[in-house]
Amino acid sequence: MDIFEMAKIPLNKAIKAMKLNEGAANIINNPERTLEVSIPVKMDNGKTKVFTGYRSQHSTILGPAKGGIRYHQNVSLDEVKTLAFWMTCKCAVAGLPYGGGKGGIIVDPSELSQRELEALTRGFIDKIALIIGEKRDIPAPDMNTNAQIMGWMMDEYSKITGQYEPGFITGKAICVGGSLGRTAATGRGVVVAALEALKIKKIAPQKATCAVQGFGNVGSWTAKLFYDEGVKVVALSDIKGNIYCPEGFNPYKVEEYAAKKGSVVGYPGSKPITNKKLLTLDVTILAPCAMELQITAANAASVKAKIISEGANGPTTPDADIILDKKGIMVIPDILANGGGVTVSYFEWIQNLYRNFWSEEKVIERQNALMRAAFKNVFAVTKKYKVDMRVAAYIVALGRLDEAMKIRGMY
Ligand code: NAD
Repeated sequence: MDIFEMAKIPLNKAIKAMKLNEGAANIINNPERTLEVSIPVKMDNGKTKVFTGYRSQHSTILGPAKGGIRYHQNVSLDEVKTLAFWMTCKCAVAGLPYGGGKGGIIVDPSELSQRELEALTRGFIDKIALIIGEKRDIPAPDMNTNAQIMGWMMDEYSKITGQYEPGFITGKAICVGGSLGRTAATGRGVVVAALEALKIKKIAPQKATCAVQGFGNVGSWTAKLFYDEGVKVVALSDIKGNIYCPEGFNPYKVEEYAAKKGSVVGYPGSKPITNKKLLTLDVTILAPCAMELQITAANAASVKAKIISEGANGPTTPDADIILDKKGIMVIPDILANGGGVTVSYFEWIQNLYRNFWSEEKVIERQNALMRAAFKNVFAVTKKYKVDMRVAAYIVALGRLDEAMKIRGMY
């Protein structure tokens, strides 16, 4: 099953449960606009190569489209459209005044020189400039794109419009309008959501344990912030392997080790375990923060965690959802749990629009407040409609979109 089919399963369950108007459902099922562009780049060897890129705006019902741009050899039109759809839902659940968008270029950036990468980046912005902008569509980093690439994009777009344009893109360096607190934001959201779930289960964080899959941006911050809250982090992993320590890790120290050795594997005092074992450990919280399709019908029955907080996009398959729900495991879905990144991107945009910059404390305080409110809202919907957290999150998102579509006279 591809991720688009997977994404539609809980969406359709939500449409049915809330009896969403057919016209509204049809609008949500189709992206508003998708642009395919060809980007010629003069390569270092003197030849000109033409790359293919996309920008999909799934929805601008609640505000400008918002979502990252990825550089990867497997980027496809379908993938970009699905990810844009997820962004619409993620922003709507979080209550942000945004629609959903996503972009990508089919390229393996590791094969390009810095000059070629910059030329490709500027060429892409030249081609999509017509449909983006701080009130139309606001890109951000995604797989293989970073603050440097955002800086080139912002510079190119400012040249095209003839004015300083920090608000057209987020995930920038602080010196060109980036926000404090952005790097940790997605992991912080995963933790805030899990702490709310612990409250419902009446478990003190100091009595809880967790396993975190993935030790990149999301996983490492998730582990560090769980540790700060007193949750015992007993398992960690990256693409090279998985480590276990029943006494608990200090993820800050693991991070120092991984920075030197290139992996968490071999951390002193840890025991190697398999990926399957990590996912099925007897812990309070499991946080899959690596990639999609990790908890499936093949391993869901063995999952022992009481709470799953999804840092990655799409780590649990629909078949696994059914099994986990029957076992009484609370799955905090990706569109709710990993919305912390886009929430702080929203703060970056506000700061850019007003040229007024916030302290890190203010960013964290506002993020926590928004995410707690989003969690409580989704949890209340699980009771009202007798559905799991994932379907409830889609009901919340669709409810907000539907209200706006109705008042705008869209159906
Ligand atoms: P990243 O590249 O920084 O880190 C990914 C981590 O996962 C790395 O530690 C990598 O070694 C590990 N990994 C990869 N394959 C693995 C495997 N098979 N088993 C175990 N570990 C594996 O990426 P990231 O930004 O942390 O993103 C992780 C996930 O979170 C992705 O699904 C991404 O779409 C999602 N996400 C990220 C953000 C964000 O702000 N970065 C926001 C929302 C969602």
